[in-house]
Amino acid sequence: MRPLPLALSLLITAAANAQTIASYKYDPFAIRTGSTTPSTLEVEVTGTPTSVRIDLLTGDTLNLTPSGANRWRVSVPAAQLLAGYGPNKVNHNFVGFVRVTGGPNGNITSTLNSSIQVFDGSVTIPPIVQKDPGARSSPRILNLYRPNLGVTDISSAVKGFYSYYKDDFDFVRVVFMLPSYARGIYSPYHMIVRNDVQGVGLLSMNETASYGSAGKLKGVTVYPVDNYIDCAESAFSHEIGHQWMNYLRNQSLTAASPHWPASTMARGIMGMAIIPPTGAGGPFSYNLEMVTSTTAHVTQVSAGLLQEFTDLDLYLMGFLPAESVSPVIVVQWTVACRDCIMPASVMTIQDVIAANGPRVPDWKAAQKSFRIGTVVITRDRLLNEVWGYNYYGTTRTLDQVIVQLRKKLGDNGDEPKHLVTVHGVGYKLLS
Ligand SMILES: [Zn+2]
Repeated sequence: MRPLPLALSLLITAAANAQTIASYKYDPFAIRTGSTTPSTLEVEVTGTPTSVRIDLLTGDTLNLTPSGANRWRVSVPAAQLLAGYGPNKVNHNFVGFVRVTGGPNGNITSTLNSSIQVFDGSVTIPPIVQKDPGARSSPRILNLYRPNLGVTDISSAVKGFYSYYKDDFDFVRVVFMLPSYARGIYSPYHMIVRNDVQGVGLLSMNETASYGSAGKLKGVTVYPVDNYIDCAESAFSHEIGHQWMNYLRNQSLTAASPHWPASTMARGIMGMAIIPPTGAGGPFSYNLEMVTSTTAHVTQVSAGLLQEFTDLDLYLMGFLPAESVSPVIVVQWTVACRDCIMPASVMTIQDVIAANGPRVPDWKAAQKSFRIGTVVITRDRLLNEVWGYNYYGTTRTLDQVIVQLRKKLGDNGDEPKHLVTVHGVGYKLLS
């Protein structure tokens, strides 16, 4: 066969049926140091790969085998999962590169680094409260066993949270730990539930009732894939930042909303929307310096995102007075460049106030401490690996516990009167 011209083969790579890695998971998702229990790596792929393998940190390779539609899996021994783990890895261990091969030449079409969560001696077992057969909590996390909830059932998940807690939280985080992936939704995102802050470009709104909150809830952050939650990492701050950013109505900012355009702000935690014309998103690794009143010197730098909020971010969040916000530079990005001059403008905090009004409440009156609740939705069982004990090992043992409970309550399993199965929720005890 004649080799395809380059442009055409690029088009084929970008096609929907290309062999790529959509996502991966380990089950169990965490391993204790010293454990000899393997974990099953499951990889979700697109297209029809000829092979899927993991090139382990140890130098070994394991081949995955097909395990259902778009799924490949392999059992990874504990020694491989824990290889190279030390305290400096902070509860995450890089296991190896997942590689997919496919296409006419059988070459590698997709590579993804995979890691597993590690339960080491630094993780203390918190006091656990078994609230009912479908719910268990630590002081910081509520785990709901909800076999029928999917990643789009956000209001049900949050209502589930409020069936155990008072309306005492500014934010609720919903983390889905599902045995199968919900295709297409992976990245964490933030939804504003209530806004009463003026001057950030948002209208007043209050949707608290549809989430089961009596009026306090401000926003919900959703993690469709549990691998991505790490509260010590900047993405966590980024999502909370979306409660206030970026919704400003200044003309140079609206196209990039809810992130920042190419600008001095884009170096911060909120990052860059899309870098035209490359289409790339995320970190903005450029220094900007005005050279005339309408142009800026753009210099690529090696360091990407600064792991912090910028002055303007902090103003919008209610932490910084207007007079502390330095002027920012917004570039009209034309071509990708490493060192060039581009059209640009300076925007001051007065420009922000002129287009959006002053922030009310101002930084003195603004709320600066927030209470966040976390609910982890599991579909196959309650969390065991992290919380360190195996009370309900599988859905089957849960069912057996229910059978025994019903016997003790004098309930008939076909027509229970006391312990009722609530489809999509779990079990409900009626007195
Ligand atoms: Zn974002």
